Amino acid sequence: MPELADQRIEQARAVPITSVLGAHRSELRRTGAELVGPCPNCGGEDRFGIHLQKNVFNCRRCERGGDAIEFIKFYKNLDFAAAIDFLAPVDKPVKALKNGADGRHFVSRSGPWKYCDPASGDVRYTRTRLNFSDGAKDVVFDGPRNGPPLLYGGERIADLGECRRVWIVEGEAKVDRLRELGEIAVSGDCGATASKWLPSHAELLRGLDIIFWPDSDEPGEIYIANAAKCLQGHVSSLRVVRPFGKPNGAKGRDVCDWEGDAEALVKLAENAEPYAPLSPDKGLREEAAKSTSKEPLPPAPNREELLAAHWIRRELPPRDHLLGALVCTTSRILMFGPTGIGKTITGMMAGGAMASAQNSLNWAGQRMARVMYFSRPLSCALAPIGRLPQRT
Ligand SMILES: [Zn+2]
Repeated sequence: MPELADQRIEQARAVPITSVLGAHRSELRRTGAELVGPCPNCGGEDRFGIHLQKNVFNCRRCERGGDAIEFIKFYKNLDFAAAIDFLAPVDKPVKALKNGADGRHFVSRSGPWKYCDPASGDVRYTRTRLNFSDGAKDVVFDGPRNGPPLLYGGERIADLGECRRVWIVEGEAKVDRLRELGEIAVSGDCGATASKWLPSHAELLRGLDIIFWPDSDEPGEIYIANAAKCLQGHVSSLRVVRPFGKPNGAKGRDVCDWEGDAEALVKLAENAEPYAPLSPDKGLREEAAKSTSKEPLPPAPNREELLAAHWIRRELPPRDHLLGALVCTTSRILMFGPTGIGKTITGMMAGGAMASAQNSLNWAGQRMARVMYFSRPLSCALAPIGRLPQRT
């Protein structure tokens, strides 16, 4: 089937080179649109480079270069067919299906979906959903899922440029659907209410333009509310689309029910609204409380933790940005200049932008924040800036 072969070649070519670099990834540093550093074959300091958008590589000394297929031929010393097998493996059937073991028969399965380490691109585990003849569903994880849960599609995020658009949807099939339409999407690995959102996910998605597309039901809203809590302040913007309207008690419709094409999808993205949680009705609030109450409170500090030796190793929380990279909740900014140059206007614009999660000048709005604006005479009276509230 030549068509299938062509499809696999395309699939192989589309694999980001950065996702198959393995440990060599850490040798390279970002310079503009490229990763530059020693060649995995001939070493050196900066003779080797990968252009991230074009997904091509080059080594000046080895005089080798090209796309992902050429790279893997070069890097792993493979021939063309082996390179395709490496980059676009044919899925093997899932082992250990429970078919018949307890009198039940599974009637269909979806997956297996591969969850890859975002840095190395190596598959860490797969997830398969089974539907049984008695209506029951089951999920099979295959592979070591002992580390933190991954995002499905996360390996395609590393090294995306700032402010690239990334969709967050609910489930692998929807990620795949958006990929078919030419977009980049990720999903948690445990369905709507059980998917965990972690600081590592926020780090991976840092600086990107995130658009939620929840299923149009309550679990869908809980899913994105949990994600928003984790991502706020780290991503460039948080927006949402609800093309099927708000939850109305019916079974939610989702990305896979949507019939638009790539062009319609771009329109949908452009019209996405800044994310704000829906005013929760009682049910939603209880669900949300249930899903967050499992998080343990941080332990109270003890004396050891206050010693310098401990502080050196301390993991500081990422900054909670309010306006681009300019203002975070712990910023103190002093603006000075001659009268009439626009300090007040600039300050008010920045304040308004932070209050409404809008952009101001070149700084991107991040999340809605409470802003207190003092005019000059009052701010002089309250000048000891350290006495202003820590978080606004
Ligand atoms: Zn080389």
